Amino acid sequence: MRILFVEDERKIADFIKRGLKEEGYAVDIAGDGEEGYFLGSSNEYDAIILDLMLPKLDGVSLCKKLRADKITTPIIILTAKDSLKDKVIGLDAGADDYLTKPFAFEELLARLRAGLRKASAHLSHELTVADLRMDLLSHKVTRAGKEIVLTSKEFALMEYFIRNAGRIVTRTMISEHVWDINFDTDTNVIDVYVNYLRRKIDAGHKTKLIHTVRGCGYTLKK
Ligand code: CA
Repeated sequence: MRILFVEDERKIADFIKRGLKEEGYAVDIAGDGEEGYFLGSSNEYDAIILDLMLPKLDGVSLCKKLRADKITTPIIILTAKDSLKDKVIGLDAGADDYLTKPFAFEELLARLRAGLRKASAHLSHELTVADLRMDLLSHKVTRAGKEIVLTSKEFALMEYFIRNAGRIVTRTMISEHVWDINFDTDTNVIDVYVNYLRRKIDAGHKTKLIHTVRGCGYTLKK
C-alpha cells in the first residue's frame, strides 16, 4: 500500500510518515501543492492524504485537478479548518473524507482503512476506459453516460478488452479467454463479434476505443 501525503509542515509530515511506515505503508511526502499534483498524477497511490493550506497550490484546487485528471484514488483531507463550510468545499472538490487537526493518529489509520476498503470494493465491480463504464455486478454498460445493451458474449469480450486496455490482444488470446476454446484458424467468429461490439460502443463516437492491429489482433485504447 502506497500513500501520498501532501503536507508543508515538516514536523507533521515526518511524524505521520513514521507512524504510517510502522503500520506497513510506503509513504511519499510532497511539501507543496504543485509537487503533490506532480507525484499524485504520475504515480499510482492507494490513497492520498491532503493538507488544505499549502504553498503554490491549495489542497482544494489540487483535489479538483486530480479528479479532473480522472484519478480516483481515495483522498482524505487533513485540515485545521473545522468549519462546516470548509468540509463541504473539500468533499465537493472530490475528497472522500476529511479529518480535523488536531487528530488522533488512530483515527487517521481507521479512515485510511475505510477509504482503501471502499476503493477496492469499487474497483472490483466497475471497469472504465475513457468515457466507457462497465459494472460487473449489474452488467450495466454506459458510454458518455448513455446505456448500451450488450449480449452476454459481447459483455465478456468487452470485459476482456478493458482488462487488457492498451495491450494487443490476439484472436487466440480472445478465443481462449472469452470463449474458452480454440477456434479453427479459418473461422471469423471473433471478428464478427468484435464488429458487433464496435457498432455498439464506437459508432457515433468521435473517439474510437477498439482498434485493429493489422496482422496481430486488436487493442483497446483511447
Ligand atoms: Ca499547511
